Amino acid sequence: MDLRIEGKVALVTAASKGLGKAVATQLASEGANVIICSRNLESLQKAKSEITKKTNTVVSVIACDVTNEKQVKQMIDSIIDEFGTIDILVTNAGGPPAGGFSDFNVEDYRKAVELNLLSTVSLCQKVVPLMQKQKWGRIVMMTSVSVKQPIANLILSNTARTGVIGFMKSLSNEVAKDGITVNSICPGYTKTQRIENLAEAFTNSRKGTIEDFYKKLEAEIPMKRIGSPEEFAQSVAFLVSEGAGYITGVSLKVDGGFAKGLF
Ligand code: NAP
Repeated sequence: MDLRIEGKVALVTAASKGLGKAVATQLASEGANVIICSRNLESLQKAKSEITKKTNTVVSVIACDVTNEKQVKQMIDSIIDEFGTIDILVTNAGGPPAGGFSDFNVEDYRKAVELNLLSTVSLCQKVVPLMQKQKWGRIVMMTSVSVKQPIANLILSNTARTGVIGFMKSLSNEVAKDGITVNSICPGYTKTQRIENLAEAFTNSRKGTIEDFYKKLEAEIPMKRIGSPEEFAQSVAFLVSEGAGYITGVSLKVDGGFAKGLF
């Protein structure tokens, strides 16, 4: 299937590692002009050379903390200066720390909301007007399968990410008439640094070994395996394609069947 995104300008945030990097790699291999950001310039440069090696294309890198509105504005302005617009926006950020109700205070919740919800709002506020002007755009908000089924010991993530779904659906209704689709993609357990961090938190809390952690996860997944960043990235690539132009306002799980509800 030809995704018809060749030459489109695609910004993928929080993409020096893991799922974001896999998405950037996939979009670059489909011929998009990809810009990636994260907080650490060194890891961005490393990601850039890995993506170039894999796809034979050059991606642009910008150091930006997506929770910092000023930095987000500077990033968008510099993309407009260089590329003129943004056609595809894939929003992503790091995940909040693991823990349950008694582990966190209100400030921790505030930080989680800033990281996962407000960063998404701030990116969209700056990018949507560009898409409205050109009457075409694709926005995919990376969340988590926790928006369908809360995950034990991830209360901050479970709480902050559901707000993204309310925002996504509301925005999708408002901008559909402008040729913009807005969707969310919800990864289940996928093999990245984030999962390794959760495995470490599990062993640190003396609940068992690393092997116990992975066995426990795999037992909960009908496919009996953790997903790969590449298969996640291919789903995002479909949602931003020309052919997905009539899909908007959905939250697509890429979770090997982990969430057991009907929707
Ligand atoms: P990861 O491997 O830890 O990578 C996180 C990326 O986000 C890094 O590139 C990091 O780079 C960047 N980042 C973190 N905070 C940032 C910020 N404030 N501004 C800009 N960039 C930032 O994580 P992942 O597994 O790819 O997960 C990506 C997202 O999906 C996370 O929110 C995670 O919680 C969620 N998720 C993951 C899974 C999974 O199984 N992997 C499942 C469900 C949901 P810098 O450190 O350089 O900023």
